[in-house]
Amino acid sequence: MTLNPSSSLPGKGLYTDEAMVARRQWIEQAHDCDLHGMSGEDRLSAERFRNNIESQVGFIQIPVSAAGPLLIHGEHAQGIFYVPLATTEGALSASATRGAKAATLSGGVTVRVVSDQMMRAPLFVFESLVQSMAFVAWIGDHLAEIHAIAKEHTRHGRLRTIEPVVLGDSVCVKLAYHTGDAYGANMVMACNHAISQWALAAFPAETGISVLDHYVDSQMSAEKKVNYMTYATSTHGKRVVAECLLKRDVIQAVLKTTAEDLFEALVSGTGPAWAAGVMGYNINFANIVAAIFAATGQDLATIPESSQGQLSFRLQEDGLYIGSLMPNLVVATVGGGVGLPSQQASLAMIDCQGAGKALKLAEIIAATALCLDISTCAAICADHFVKAHQHLGRTRPRTGMLRPEDAAGKGL
Ligand code: NAP
Repeated sequence: MTLNPSSSLPGKGLYTDEAMVARRQWIEQAHDCDLHGMSGEDRLSAERFRNNIESQVGFIQIPVSAAGPLLIHGEHAQGIFYVPLATTEGALSASATRGAKAATLSGGVTVRVVSDQMMRAPLFVFESLVQSMAFVAWIGDHLAEIHAIAKEHTRHGRLRTIEPVVLGDSVCVKLAYHTGDAYGANMVMACNHAISQWALAAFPAETGISVLDHYVDSQMSAEKKVNYMTYATSTHGKRVVAECLLKRDVIQAVLKTTAEDLFEALVSGTGPAWAAGVMGYNINFANIVAAIFAATGQDLATIPESSQGQLSFRLQEDGLYIGSLMPNLVVATVGGGVGLPSQQASLAMIDCQGAGKALKLAEIIAATALCLDISTCAAICADHFVKAHQHLGRTRPRTGMLRPEDAAGKGL
């Protein structure tokens, strides 16, 4: 089966097991992949989750959808994709699909990863600022040794930069690594631990200065937190940029609004966002990050920094230019939870399993996040937002407040 921009999944609007299976089989055929792992037919034994959880008591079921078709022009992701979203948020998948349709019919989303690193910073405490400065100078004289120790403790990781930061009587040593296709938290911490142990012995021996205290990790990496440092100047994970030129006729036909109105809505949102003290400016990148992270086994605790980001937009003769920056996408296709069968099936859906695929996954996430923002902003702009959520997403309690369709089904 050849995918084209106007392909669509079978069983639109049907909430039956048959329709779910038909859609899954359709994607298996279209992408030549095996999605059995997400069928829910095989329950894994508790033993399979060793290294993923302690004191397991059960499972949570989160349904997975496919949003698309989405045409992506990345360096690593190229072609038409149906993107796995694990969510219980009604209307999310439909909206992402609508945004993907608008972007695809407009020519697709162009996307690039512009930076890639994982940083952690061990902390060393001294008696005085003067001793801290002596430690910084000593680090500068031993860069080759530090690189050699890191090399001994990982095959795929590569220490890129060493940057000591003096905070009075203490020094944080920022160590930034390229972590290949792994998120790298364990990898980087193992290297940093070995480097710290070596420094704790070698520095006093060579200089006669004692290290009063040491912590293998300070909070300087800002991991799992929204922060300015990795947003503005460095990167935590993958820094990804995306863009799309939405054509005027597509905006009208698919998004039910105009380029001018969409532009106005985007501009109008900036003032209130600043007033609220929001960092960056996007509509709901977090929805896509959370849904793809859950589907593909990423570390969900990195959603805060991973969903930071910025939209940019410009009205043009032929439509609306809309771009995005996601500075901290923490994604992996190796290690952690990505190797579990259902998560592997999600990765198979977008051909992102295993080595050499982390940058591709980052590009797909950024492109999909841009599409959802396009659709959500258009829905707000055309005043379809509440109606769509009432229709697709509202789950009133089963007792007391029956929905009209439930009531009708019960003959009430
Ligand atoms: P990991 O599962 O601990 O290790 C993955 C390992 O896979 C790498 O260290 C690497 O071994 C190997 N590998 C094989 N092929 C690779 C490839 N193509 N690219 C990169 N590595 C490859 O995963 P991790 O990414 O280091 O850590 C992620 C896990 O750490 C998650 O489960 C996360 O929840 C958890 N975590 C840990 C901390 C912490 O502080 N320790 C904090 C937050 C989260 P080599 O290194 O030998 O090359």
